[in-house]
Amino acid sequence: MEYCLTVDSLSKKYRKFVALNDVTMRVPQGAIYGLIGKNGAGKTTLIRIICGLQSPTAGTYSIYDATYSSKEIYKSRRRMGGIIESPALYGNMSAKENLKHQFLLLGKPSFDEIDKLLESVDLKDVGKKPVRNFSLGMRQRLAIAMALASDPDFVVLDEPINGLDPQGIVEIREIILKLNKERNITFLISSHILDELSKLATHYGFIDKGKILKEITKDQLEENLKKRIVFKVDTEEELCSALDETNLQYKLTSPTEGELYGEISISALSDILKSRGITLIKVSQKDETLESYYINLLGGGKDD
Ligand code: ATP
Repeated sequence: MEYCLTVDSLSKKYRKFVALNDVTMRVPQGAIYGLIGKNGAGKTTLIRIICGLQSPTAGTYSIYDATYSSKEIYKSRRRMGGIIESPALYGNMSAKENLKHQFLLLGKPSFDEIDKLLESVDLKDVGKKPVRNFSLGMRQRLAIAMALASDPDFVVLDEPINGLDPQGIVEIREIILKLNKERNITFLISSHILDELSKLATHYGFIDKGKILKEITKDQLEENLKKRIVFKVDTEEELCSALDETNLQYKLTSPTEGELYGEISISALSDILKSRGITLIKVSQKDETLESYYINLLGGGKDD
């Protein structure tokens, strides 16, 4: 598999504080990679390092096979675009003027592509309106256009949907999906909003306290989301023996209530219970949500 980014045993310390701890991750070519973590997990630090704005304390990373300490990294970085923290836009200029400025900085020979770029982020009709009067969503879309000005193959977006209203979130999501599909641009997107990323990510890296807890593809994740049967019975007598007989994992939430993880038909469960003189009073089947998967990964939702 070809990777846009490989990170190996990367650490970053600020004096004694460990912001990144032995991070290893892989962003495959063509992926939309969701880097998910709470505030302070280390997402921005990781992204700043990848973009060359900070150096790691230990470990290494490569962009398109060029190690960060090699000469070739400059060439690889030219294939990258990104927005880190708040995008740098000129408030007194229009969207077009901001892009012209970016094109000049990049030394691009003509402005011909600007209209197409504005169209790709749904900003072709904003005319001369100064960016200071843009909504947050419009600013983010313009920032994406700025990141695309260098015609990158790999785009890094730090919290692109933070603070956006639902409509703004949908617009950004659709733009990213379109760019990924039509121009085969690989994205690395950080967010603490798992639910939103789950609508576009093809790969996930879950980060907490500077550590990657898990890297997983969308398909693997869907498989891993366990089916859950929530039940209540009339007696605790022999309940555990009956549940053991299902060969599924389970958890009791009270002496007569609990959850079974895995697939079993309700009639089969009822038969096993009945054979031990237990009656099902309430039962329902639920899919584990992505959110609860994430909370479990973090260790049960503790917020320390
Ligand atoms: P957020 O979503 O809040 O931006 P994050 O996941 O991007 O969070 P980082 O900004 O990478 O997290 O910060 C990770 C940790 O490193 C935090 O505890 C932060 O306080 C700390 N940190 C970041 N930059 C510095 C710095 N220059 N000096 C000291 N500590 C820092």
